[in-house]
Amino acid sequence: MTESDRRDNGVWLIGGETQKRDIKKMTKFLSDNDKEFIWSNSGTAINMMTEYEVVPTPQNYQLWYTHTAQSDLNLSKVLESMIAKKMAFNEDLNEKLYERFFSSEKELRAVVETGATFQKELAKIVSVLKDAGNDTSEHTKALMEHMSRLSDFEGSQELKDIIHLVIDDTDKIKEQSQKLETKLEESTVKIQGLQSNLENARLESRTDALTNIGNRKFFEEKISEYHKNFQEIGHDLCLILCDIDFFKKFNDNYGHQIGDQVLKVVAHVIKKELGLLGSAARYGGEEFAILLPKAKLQDGIELADKIRTVISQRIIKNKNTGANFGRITMSFGVASLRRGISIDDLIQKADSALYLSKSAGRNMVQSELELDQVVSGSDSISA
Ligand code: GH3
Ligand code: MG
Ligand code: MG
Repeated sequence: MTESDRRDNGVWLIGGETQKRDIKKMTKFLSDNDKEFIWSNSGTAINMMTEYEVVPTPQNYQLWYTHTAQSDLNLSKVLESMIAKKMAFNEDLNEKLYERFFSSEKELRAVVETGATFQKELAKIVSVLKDAGNDTSEHTKALMEHMSRLSDFEGSQELKDIIHLVIDDTDKIKEQSQKLETKLEESTVKIQGLQSNLENARLESRTDALTNIGNRKFFEEKISEYHKNFQEIGHDLCLILCDIDFFKKFNDNYGHQIGDQVLKVVAHVIKKELGLLGSAARYGGEEFAILLPKAKLQDGIELADKIRTVISQRIIKNKNTGANFGRITMSFGVASLRRGISIDDLIQKADSALYLSKSAGRNMVQSELELDQVVSGSDSISA
């Protein structure tokens, strides 16, 4: 049953589903030596992160622990040279380092691409074999014809025997090449299966597990792609950032699990209203991003207002108990890409517009147009 099936008469029915939580079990017991080694490297890693002002996120910890445990000498070399150059380990650099040394993304892409090339090559071999198979059939036919002409001649038996041998051998070659052809065709099918598995894994690594829409990584990839299209082909791009209002209070009142269900409902509405017009992602905790390629600012404002209206009009109820959780609202910020502004500038603009919606009372859509007014308004005050 989908979220939309559970929606009726302005009410969203949520809940009643058991939350799946992955609990990873320790499969191996650590020896005292192992523990000592881990404690010591962990301490050194934390100390180094403190010294170089690295925020101790799990990703950064993995990076520095790998360095202190000397499990990747390449990584250590890079970190040491950065330390020597007194580089600042800011978020951007940390993210890049993690990408470089731990992201499986690059390898996954390489495997998918190599698989595709391999598959093409295999198809070529199969077609060559098929041609060869046809050639041998033609060859056998020609030999039979020649042989029939020999029947009138005296002493042609010996020659006929030789031709029979040649035909037999040709048939054997044909049979073998047919077998090989079948085997190669089977391999091609297997490779196709592997290809689609890898493609699914790639897709999964870009999907938010809770809401089933794109995650931050997906968003970053898409915005880069659309930005490139803007620069190279001149396609417009509009960005909507939106955030659930007073969600902390909602969680405090009804619990995190009900909050999670609300996030799923919000993602569902966004996806449904957006349709095929663009890409949506969970940008952060209770914040979502919508990218509208080939759309003007006004299109973005209209879509944002449509989503805002749909969300704010529904009452959320527990489908089992009928408990009423009231309504939720969302605030929106919309900005569009212009010549000369970077991806970061665009995000910053949409974020500032969202902030404006929040400060102006929430449950509303504000865009770069209102931002411009605020800026010019404050200019005239200070003038
Ligand atoms: P504002 O209107 O200013 O956005 O207020 P807010 O309470 O929504 O914002 P604030 O940033 O103070 O709190 C965000 C809340 O979102 C806190 C956190 O409990 C909740 N949240 C973030 N991620 C999740 C999640 O994955 N599940 C649930 N249930 N809640 C989440
Ligand atoms: Mg919020
Ligand atoms: Mg927020």
